[in-house]
Amino acid sequence: MQLEQGANLTRVKAANQAAILKTIYHLGPIRRSEIARLLELTLPTITTNVNSMMARGIVRETGSDRSDGRSIGRKAHPVDIVPESRRFIGVELQGARRTACLLDYRGRALYTCEDREACPDYDRNIRLSCRLISQALDTCCLTLEQIAGIGVCAPGLVDHERGILEVRPSDNWRNKDLRGDIARLTGYEGPISVENNACARAYGAQLFQREVLGDAQTFAYLFINQGIACPLVLNTATAFGSLVGAGEVGHMVMVPGGLRCSCGNQGCLEAYASDRAVLDRCAALLDGGRAPRLRELCGTEGPAMEHVLTALDQGDRDVAEVVERAVYILGVAVANINNFACPDKMLIEGKLFCRQENRDHLLTVVRANLCGVIRSGTEFIFVEPEACSGAMGAAAMAICKDLETYIEL
Ligand SMILES: [Zn+2]
Repeated sequence: MQLEQGANLTRVKAANQAAILKTIYHLGPIRRSEIARLLELTLPTITTNVNSMMARGIVRETGSDRSDGRSIGRKAHPVDIVPESRRFIGVELQGARRTACLLDYRGRALYTCEDREACPDYDRNIRLSCRLISQALDTCCLTLEQIAGIGVCAPGLVDHERGILEVRPSDNWRNKDLRGDIARLTGYEGPISVENNACARAYGAQLFQREVLGDAQTFAYLFINQGIACPLVLNTATAFGSLVGAGEVGHMVMVPGGLRCSCGNQGCLEAYASDRAVLDRCAALLDGGRAPRLRELCGTEGPAMEHVLTALDQGDRDVAEVVERAVYILGVAVANINNFACPDKMLIEGKLFCRQENRDHLLTVVRANLCGVIRSGTEFIFVEPEACSGAMGAAAMAICKDLETYIEL
């Protein structure tokens, strides 16, 4: 059980400052009176804090107003975040590739880069990742001291408090000190946030896709890649971005006694519906002399998801069967997740779902397996997979950390 800390004056002040800044960040442009109403604080408290944020250059008055502006007398302009006042770096490490980005406070990408060298060796991988960080700084003519926070994400089980990657079975990474290694190799002394890469994407959605999430109070982010994860997020005005579960759904047993999974168990969702599972199945087809279109596309190399998608477009029936099976099992899993958690919205990111046909098939299976009694009414939204979405999510975590810990000394 975790007990709440008691409040002394300094803590109250810090908590108020963070709450005000978060409100401006998530709802800005916003009037001071509206912030006071939402946070149940007095207008003078808001004004004092907002004025000092303005003096520090992180908040400014804006001319535009989202309300109808029918106020009388001197108009207090709404306030908003100054995007260029702070900069953040995000990095995603995977065995097969790394990406990095440098964002402003509002999440505008000033620089993104990708390194596609396959590198299962952790030590080399983390060095390559740090090289991307230097590249980002050099290109933007910035120094580490000008970076307000770094976010790092990786697949696998991550202890975000200690900054440790506990285990990534498929690359055999265990107990890796992500936070410590990034700090040591770059020399960065500011805050470094560390998370699982699906959770990072959920943070990214929360911060940068407000229109998509709308007034959803809870949302889930299903991320299908080499593994499968589905973090759940509470999205209310009082709990912006509170992650309520890391959502390791990839190891939910779908077929008792079924295929062996990288975790050692049998019949896990990942063993059937992850990109890795699809590629393993396709490689087996090729070994058996089947999937002729796929064979032509990948030549002597092993199949990649791009090849699989093109083979599907070209009507390779063998590949289509593999994909249909994966989408079917995923659809049953999505229905189970919704029967259990009933989020208002579910964002789905996976390469297979670039194709409309796979989207339609997934939703048909989901509807057929949703519990009729619960009727969750969940809205499903497909997210286009972007090369840098993990790095952007990692930077979003760094921004969340910055908002959460904002304190004026
Ligand atoms: Zn498993």
